[in-house]
Amino acid sequence: MRSQAWSMVCPLDDILPQSGVCALLDGCQIAVFRVHDEIFALDNRDPASSANVLSRGIVGDVMGELVVASPVYKQHFGLRTGRCLENPELSVRTYPARVANGGVWVRSDATVMSAPGLHKRRLVVIGNGMAGMRAVEELLAVAPDAEIVVFGSEPHGNYNRTLLSPLLAGEKQVADIMLHDHRWYAEHGVTLHADDPVTRIDRWRRVVVSKRGLVVPYQRLLLATGSTPVVLDVPGTELPGVMTFRDLRDVDAMLAAARSSANAVVVGGGLLGLEAATGLQRRGMRVTVVHRSETLMERQLDQAAAALLRRSLEQRGVQFRMPARTEAILGDARVTGVRLDDGSELAADLVVMAIGIRPNIDLAKRAGLRCERGVLVDDTMQTFDPSIYAVGECVQHRNITYGLVAPLWDQARVCATHLAEVGNGRFAAPPISTRLKVTGIDLFGGRFPRQHAQ
Ligand SMILES: Cc1cc2nc3c(=O)[nH]c(=O)nc-3n(C[C@H](O)[C@H](O)[C@H](O)COP(=O)(O)OP(=O)(O)OC[C@H]3O[C@@H](n4cnc5c(N)ncnc54)[C@H](O)[C@@H]3O)c2cc1C
Repeated sequence: MRSQAWSMVCPLDDILPQSGVCALLDGCQIAVFRVHDEIFALDNRDPASSANVLSRGIVGDVMGELVVASPVYKQHFGLRTGRCLENPELSVRTYPARVANGGVWVRSDATVMSAPGLHKRRLVVIGNGMAGMRAVEELLAVAPDAEIVVFGSEPHGNYNRTLLSPLLAGEKQVADIMLHDHRWYAEHGVTLHADDPVTRIDRWRRVVVSKRGLVVPYQRLLLATGSTPVVLDVPGTELPGVMTFRDLRDVDAMLAAARSSANAVVVGGGLLGLEAATGLQRRGMRVTVVHRSETLMERQLDQAAAALLRRSLEQRGVQFRMPARTEAILGDARVTGVRLDDGSELAADLVVMAIGIRPNIDLAKRAGLRCERGVLVDDTMQTFDPSIYAVGECVQHRNITYGLVAPLWDQARVCATHLAEVGNGRFAAPPISTRLKVTGIDLFGGRFPRQHAQ
């Protein structure tokens, strides 16, 4: 409890004319400004960035109102009222202040500008996938009144992407893998703009712009744009029949191909490639896996375990060409085959690329956010811009990017508590383990976070 008494916070001479200092009032940081003959005291915390910086802001006059400009985003806060000139939902508290006996005195009974919706902030989420929606669920658990708008580039609600493999193999139906269908959003007061990707983030105006032309303001933004499959840089990848394995549309396309054609080549002998291969084989296709290493799933398995796995898959009818590199995809109107680096050719009506993923960071980069392989975040999942958070495969945290869901759940939980402003948790790289989802093969692999850096 603050005492509501006058406290001397510093000698007047400590404050240069037309500038401010930071002082402690009952243990809290305040910004104290000396402007001409007057003294002003405000909270030091800039509500737009959550940084304690206002005392370092430049003071001046905007249309006759004395203001301080925040050093972070340059919003202006009235020195007398604490109001934010650019955003009526933001304000800081102001304190009575005076000079007496050569000292600056401040009283601790702050005035709060009443601003509509000050505590109700709109969160816009870009990416309607597993990490983004887990963060939304976690946020609703701690802040049920949060106003949330989600943009997704896929037409569906959110589904369990990891179960695309059993879907392809015919072991699950689409309804089985849905996590949040359209009705869920309506029931939880979350606005979903499906099939409408965000094309631009305007950080200055704090709005996102979507492909269909929606312009939606945000107070907090969450990037959860996932990854894009890597496609080999060889001739022929643009031919019909060449695809990747990432979303429901890809599974639909593979199933259509499996109904009408016989031969499939899967490029990549990692987890995803092997799940695609066994799924297609179960749908009746003759499948060959082309893998550049001598060891299947070499990031998870040693040679002995990989050899056992290869034998089990061969017994099911999957064939392997390894070590081998794909030199070209063949065909005129559509794919007919694949040429390998030893000059041999494999017949193929369908080619699935499963050689890795790349964090989806174009939007973040264009918005000027710091990115390397992924969008750079700190331990609270905050990006370079304090109003913008990021979770999921698009993120690079302490030099690590992730391609499995377990760590993304931790990210989502930490992020949600910080978005709700009740957080003190930090994300730390967990041990990574994975399971191959091929019915009849119980394969579990693990590795430790340092080795997981891509
Ligand atoms: C077939 C398959 C099997 C897998 N199996 C496993 C497994 O067994 N175990 C495991 O741990 N992990 C597995 N994974 C990986 C796991 O699915 C991912 O780690 C997880 O989905 C990543 O979540 P995310 O939210 O970061 O990305 P996503 O789930 O991909 O979600 C990102 C979403 O953002 C959308 N988006 C992108 N840009 C925009 C934009 N500008 N505007 C709006 N929306 C946008 C994308 O379309 C997508 O819907 C598998 C992945 C696949 C493809």
